[in-house]
Amino acid sequence: MNIGRRSRRLERMYRSFNRAYFDNALPRNIPVAWIAGKHISGHMAQTWKFCDGRIRIVLNQLLCEMWKKLSWSAIACNSLLHEMVHIQHQRSAHHGPAFNKTMLRLAKDGAFRWADVSKD
Ligand SMILES: [Zn+2]
Repeated sequence: MNIGRRSRRLERMYRSFNRAYFDNALPRNIPVAWIAGKHISGHMAQTWKFCDGRIRIVLNQLLCEMWKKLSWSAIACNSLLHEMVHIQHQRSAHHGPAFNKTMLRLAKDGAFRWADVSKD
């Protein structure tokens, strides 16, 4: 459960996205942590749900290495919003029509406006 290194910055982003794009309907105070890639088999990010109902979002630490080449906020924003949509659609954990519909809504609402990966 305590695997990974929690990030206050990512947790602030989670709270601010929850407020701005999900009407605060997602659970509050979800831990968001950086984790070694070996624990998530090459995925960029995952949402873990535990038997007791707790949720934890983990982002691959390799992303840290990419900060040098890409915008940190772009990577974190894309990965975090993606996982938040999974939390919203917890009954359908995969990328089906409902998931895609929410991703499109977020795009229209400008959630990805600072996720431009083009280098400045
Ligand atoms: Zn996914």
